[in-house]
Amino acid sequence: MTEDNWFTWNEPHPLDASLRAHDFEVFADYHTHTVYSRNHGKGTIEDNLLAAREKGLTELAITDHGPAALGIGIREVKTLEVIKARTTHYNRLFADIRLLAGVEANVVSIDGRLDVPRSALKELDIRVAGLHYQIMPASVSDGFDIILNNLVLSKLSRRMRRRARLVNTKAIVEAVNHYNIDIVSHPGLKLDIDTHELARAAARRGTALEISAGHPYMTVDFIRIGLKEGVKFSIDSDAHKPANVGRLESGIRLAERAGVGAADLINARPLRARPLRAREAGPGERPDARVALAEELAPEPDQTRKNPRVRRS
Ligand SMILES: [Zn+2]
Ligand SMILES: [Zn+2]
Repeated sequence: MTEDNWFTWNEPHPLDASLRAHDFEVFADYHTHTVYSRNHGKGTIEDNLLAAREKGLTELAITDHGPAALGIGIREVKTLEVIKARTTHYNRLFADIRLLAGVEANVVSIDGRLDVPRSALKELDIRVAGLHYQIMPASVSDGFDIILNNLVLSKLSRRMRRRARLVNTKAIVEAVNHYNIDIVSHPGLKLDIDTHELARAAARRGTALEISAGHPYMTVDFIRIGLKEGVKFSIDSDAHKPANVGRLESGIRLAERAGVGAADLINARPLRARPLRAREAGPGERPDARVALAEELAPEPDQTRKNPRVRRS
């Protein structure tokens, strides 16, 4: 590769317009799968990385399915070490995007056990965990509650539906309480849960709930309940192929409709504050542009009083 090519290759991409909301812009996708999610993920780590750079994202997490996901999870816990080593390698190569080695762990028992041991979770940069029913449960009775109940029995009677919801909620809340989980993936997808209860536990533990752009079941109500409980959110793609990495528009629109701001999101920054940062001055910027922007964005005096975080500088 010639030096010229190298620079073109390494030129940072501007943030894709689809990642911008009215008040915030999303800079990271914290939930993506690769070929390490066997039979499920289509791209390599490098494919996902290049797709994320193309979108102008500055952080990307690789979060393949934990080993208990039947036929689609990582082959063994040790695979996480391989993923970590690869992300470290790419982080040395690229200065404009940071890769995070992670996992989407499975809850395998109703007392909230995950399929990845704590020692392995500790080595990762980010821990996503969620409820899935295509798993190898910790025991036969856990299998009854997590798989049979959700797949079959809850469809037969209202009583069993209520029971499934109770059990699912307990399982994910226990996981949040007993592990340092950064994000709960797609809460309520296919396995019904009590959002109030999960959001309360997650808010207390500093765990974010995911606004999934990869599954169309999400509602504004789900987000509003979370906001009321003071929980933070992460808008992620759950991409299983590179083309979907950073495809977050549906999640961003939903978040906007629910009244989510940058402060409620772990992967977004406020949009209006951005032009005021001196270090972001680009080459060729007109000398008067900064002043003009500063004036345009300066808050009204009464706004300054109401919100002490808004400053004029
Ligand atoms: Zn999942
Ligand atoms: Zn996933």
